[in-house]
Amino acid sequence: MSRSAPIRLAIVGVGKIVRDQHLPALSKNPDYRVVAAASRNATIDGVASFQSIEEMLASGVEIDAVSLCQPPQVRYVAARAAIEAGKHVFMEKPPGATVSEVEDLKALANAKGVSLFASWHSRYAPAVESARSFLSGTTARKARFIWKEDVRKWHPGQAWIWQPGGFGVFDPFINCLSIVTHILPPLHITQAELDFPSNRDAPVAARMNFAGADSLTATAEIDWLQTGPQSWDIIVETDEGEMILSSGGAKLTIEGRTVQEQAEREYPALYERFADIVREQRSDVDLAPLQHVADAFMLGRRNVVDGFFD
Ligand code: NAP
Repeated sequence: MSRSAPIRLAIVGVGKIVRDQHLPALSKNPDYRVVAAASRNATIDGVASFQSIEEMLASGVEIDAVSLCQPPQVRYVAARAAIEAGKHVFMEKPPGATVSEVEDLKALANAKGVSLFASWHSRYAPAVESARSFLSGTTARKARFIWKEDVRKWHPGQAWIWQPGGFGVFDPFINCLSIVTHILPPLHITQAELDFPSNRDAPVAARMNFAGADSLTATAEIDWLQTGPQSWDIIVETDEGEMILSSGGAKLTIEGRTVQEQAEREYPALYERFADIVREQRSDVDLAPLQHVADAFMLGRRNVVDGFFD
């Protein structure tokens, strides 16, 4: 691949996020040419389409990189096949169903000399860098993470999200964790309580406590049955006053004053980042958000609550 030629990209798992975000972002980015798709039940107009990644990789279609957009439970096998075939790999969040499998992919990508990208789209929300910069100049004392949304609105009919490895309400909350691990000093979970619907294998709500250095403490309240206004807020008490990063990272308020509020462009920014790391021949795989989810499942008390019905 020459440094100036577009990256010939294949998309695997053509579903909601591909149609909502990946294809619109890619259509405006001249660094990419979408050349193939692998999906059991869907195709992308105008490109070679296959039913599996294995079939696609064996087809002879010239591909430099793949975007893996299926649910996390099947990402490892696909990522391994792509890396073994010498392709750069963009992984939707979460990058896998376990920490160890992503560590394995990291090592394999390094050995094969391809770029692996664990994309965390919420880190690219418009006010996240300003929040990080504000926090780097003060001391955070106490934080609250409030992530409450309506699963029926955002994930209609998605069965995988309730299955083992689908993470349940931690699928959206890992977005919060991807911001928190980028803007705040390191934290670890000290206590967790997870509510599992009686008919599902993944939690619908949870509460957690965190601790960090210098007496920093944090709490999280996450809920997937929130109707009406949705909350995606990170509230931090600091020596310079209260900082609120709201709307999933789109709005920043400090001491009641709005300092930034902008339309989001997370996926265009993700693809810019991926092109950069491919051209710089390196990987970007931060496992900190996934580790927190693993820790919550390890440490958490399990409550059984009412069954969930779509
Ligand atoms: P989705 O539409 O349910 O799944 C994407 C596609 O993956 C499906 O259309 C399906 O295509 C394929 N797939 C589903 N189950 C599979 C399985 N068991 N084995 C192989 N392929 C399977 O999900 P999505 O909402 O796009 O989410 C996909 C990933 O993006 C998840 O990791 C999610 O966390 C992340 N994400 C989602 C959103 C969102 O708002 N939805 C936002 C950001 C990130 P075929 O049946 O054609 O194979």
